[in-house]
Amino acid sequence: MTLKGLLIKGYNGFYYVETEGRIWSCSLRGRFRVKKQRFLPGDRVKFTVIDPDKGCGVIEELFPRQNELIRPPVANVDKVVITFALHNPKPDLLLLDRILIQVLQAGIEPLICFNKADLVTEGECDAILSPYVFAGYDVIAVSAYSRQGIDKLKLAIHGNLIVMAGPSGAGKSSILNAIDERFHLATGELSKKVERGKHTTRRVELLPLEKGTYLADTPGFSSLFLPDKIERSDLQKFYPEFAVFAQDCPYTSCLHDRERDCGVKNAVTQGSIDAGRYERYCLFLEELKEREGKY
Ligand code: GDP
Ligand code: ZN
Repeated sequence: MTLKGLLIKGYNGFYYVETEGRIWSCSLRGRFRVKKQRFLPGDRVKFTVIDPDKGCGVIEELFPRQNELIRPPVANVDKVVITFALHNPKPDLLLLDRILIQVLQAGIEPLICFNKADLVTEGECDAILSPYVFAGYDVIAVSAYSRQGIDKLKLAIHGNLIVMAGPSGAGKSSILNAIDERFHLATGELSKKVERGKHTTRRVELLPLEKGTYLADTPGFSSLFLPDKIERSDLQKFYPEFAVFAQDCPYTSCLHDRERDCGVKNAVTQGSIDAGRYERYCLFLEELKEREGKY
């Protein structure tokens, strides 16, 4: 009998595959070892049942991956929950935009989650969220303390394999505890894992949240650099709110930088595009120019 399942973790040459609520301990067919095929948490596999009582099997087939992350090493990620505090600490929006670009470039859907809504007024919250809402991204305000927005967050990740991202202190561990009290994560615990991960190759494991929803137990996207493959002309695709105004630019190649009569710059002046988002775009543009200039 063969079954299909989700690879939860690998350990000592064994792979733990979940299907219909049961975990099977599987080895690999020799040909995979010959090919040095790497299996990752998140992989969808087909396995032959060897011993149904002991729950043992052999992996026969690896289904094509939707995407593949390097840090953490996970396949088929549906969403990255980019978490920042609204206050204490104040959100570093340059870092947020950088992570957003990394996630989008990896081909994964971002969900921007602003935590600690209990510390700001509704107006302050709106002011931070609205540029991202206007850009068309999925944004949610939550409070791990008051549980505001937690059910909405649960709904947004339902049935997904998620990775958390964002600086330590944003409240990632606290949010996970609010989502599922079985976690018992100490505050800062999730972040510590990333720091450890820099020195050792940490094993990554998927933690089940609810039926069909999984979380990689190590957060990702801590790089402070823009992905290598991005060129300066690509940058504006990460700022989708520019598009309609860019139609008024005199050239289709306009970078909305030093050009005259630029539709995007005019929209910023008129307040139609958020000035902060535009400034960060300009900073990234300089970064890319410097990088290109090096070669
Ligand atoms: P992590 O490093 O991203 O995992 O963040 P933690 O979950 O460790 O939270 C960092 C700090 O923020 C801790 O002192 C938490 O108690 C606090 N914190 C987390 N969530 C909230 C929240 O919703 N409201 C407030 N006021 N503080 C929070
Ligand atoms: Zn322009």
